[in-house]
Amino acid sequence: MQTQQTNPTAYRSIFSNEFCEIMESQVTGFKSLHALKAFEPGDLISPFNASFVSTKPSYLTVQVGYRKHITLLPQFLQYINHSCNPNAFFNTTTMELTALRTIQPGDEYSFFYPSTEWDMAQPFQCNCNQPDCLGLISGAAFIPEEILKRYTLTDFILNRLKSRQKKLRA
Ligand SMILES: [Zn+2]
Repeated sequence: MQTQQTNPTAYRSIFSNEFCEIMESQVTGFKSLHALKAFEPGDLISPFNASFVSTKPSYLTVQVGYRKHITLLPQFLQYINHSCNPNAFFNTTTMELTALRTIQPGDEYSFFYPSTEWDMAQPFQCNCNQPDCLGLISGAAFIPEEILKRYTLTDFILNRLKSRQKKLRA
């Protein structure tokens, strides 16, 4: 899970099923997950589950609660990279990956890491090239509320924001 500009000619498919395929860069080994069918906003892309639960985050985990970080099942979902203009959302309450926008076959799936991650293990400089790119991505804890309001966030992140607001007022 990282971001990089894509040059489609240098990529090959290393896995596919009915709704997605993993593309791998032949140059860097960088992997990304792409749609093989269309979705409308709100559509279920895939249910997901935890193959492993950890108290600490890693670059592969998705945060589902306080000191609760899961590695994803099905495993190929780990290749969904970050974008500041995401088309998918990991709803960690319903454990469903859903579409935020219309997704066409061939589109790369992406999610907004701070929509699930409060304080990331490995902050990184985003190169998503979207007009509103936030630059350094280190988790929702470090992003002002005005910006977070533009995004769909998990219940866990929304609750953390509420307690952050209380602390700021106190
Ligand atoms: Zn970005």
